[in-house]
Amino acid sequence: MQRVRQRKPQEFDRVLSSMCTEPHPRAHEAAVEFLATNPGDPATYQTVADLETEAVDQLGEIAGLDDAYGYIASGGTEANIQAVHAARNLADGADTAGGDAASDPNIVAPTSVHFSVTKAAEMLGVELRTVPVDDDYRADLDAVAAAVDDDTLLVIGVAGSTEYGRVDPIPAMADIAHDADARMHVDASWGGFILPFTDYEWSFADAPIDSMAIDPHKFGQAPVPAGGLLARERETVDALAVDTPYLETTSQATLTGTRSGAGVAGAVAAMDELWPAGYRQQYREQQANADFLADEFAARGIKVVEPTLPLVTASLSPATFEALRDEEWRIARTADGDLRIVCMPHVTRAALEAFLTDLDRVRS
Ligand code: PLP
Repeated sequence: MQRVRQRKPQEFDRVLSSMCTEPHPRAHEAAVEFLATNPGDPATYQTVADLETEAVDQLGEIAGLDDAYGYIASGGTEANIQAVHAARNLADGADTAGGDAASDPNIVAPTSVHFSVTKAAEMLGVELRTVPVDDDYRADLDAVAAAVDDDTLLVIGVAGSTEYGRVDPIPAMADIAHDADARMHVDASWGGFILPFTDYEWSFADAPIDSMAIDPHKFGQAPVPAGGLLARERETVDALAVDTPYLETTSQATLTGTRSGAGVAGAVAAMDELWPAGYRQQYREQQANADFLADEFAARGIKVVEPTLPLVTASLSPATFEALRDEEWRIARTADGDLRIVCMPHVTRAALEAFLTDLDRVRS
């Protein structure tokens, strides 16, 4: 304990590139209260299991889905892996039932897809076909259509991409997927709690998508770990289930076994507090912060990508970037080396102004 007592976790005031944030205080309390529960064993930990059902229902409401199936995952990585896993198992099941499973299965996603999908493809033995994005960093539909074939299990679109905060053309991608008898998954891990307040077409209500990753532990302000896997049909979750001989319940669909109920309880508490008014206000404030920052960069002659969601990407020299890291700004870069500022709920206008002051100093 001594070693922990001597340390403090980082403050959030200089964290500008993380996709996580400070949990809402009620979510923090709920997480502490349910820390020692295990929704992986619902027959023993029934209260938290009931809360998980409520969490899935509420995530469904946020993502435009009545009667949602799914579970609270450890994060977007697990939800994406499980979407690929379900698609593969369903195709295998079709084969067993006399259908036509792919001999050399593939999944198709834009290059902007999160690296968790690379993990999924490697683990599950499917080929990941990445296709280019257009000039606005969104999946190129012609390229998606060209990459999809009879062996495609799943097409993945991103609703709020990690590097540029872009939303792929989800309805058109779903059409391409379904025309090829493939499934359609949307990765809204980051965007899911802000997109309901925009005009984007991203949700189960906007397109016939089959599954979605949507993380309470990002814009949802739940404590880590709280991700969400949602599915339109029960068969998706059933395709993930394995028998659980030594538990009183008969099957388990999660990738993890034992998992803390902190994520489940924290997610429910955060959504109770914030859906929808609190999330709407948070989106508006952070979009205004992103627009402010983008204007400030542009005024300094720094090339900036328009923040269509609260995420600003700008070109800084490696020396300037390093100098800002030395000032203890917790910032990160895109694969192309651009600075990436994610305006999460903890990011204040005052923090951005302080950052700009340091930027001006280190650049001069
Ligand atoms: N999907 C997207 C779009 C993300 O931005 C991230 C993480 O930032 C993930 C998936 C992975 O989420 P996690 O780190 O919670 O597993």
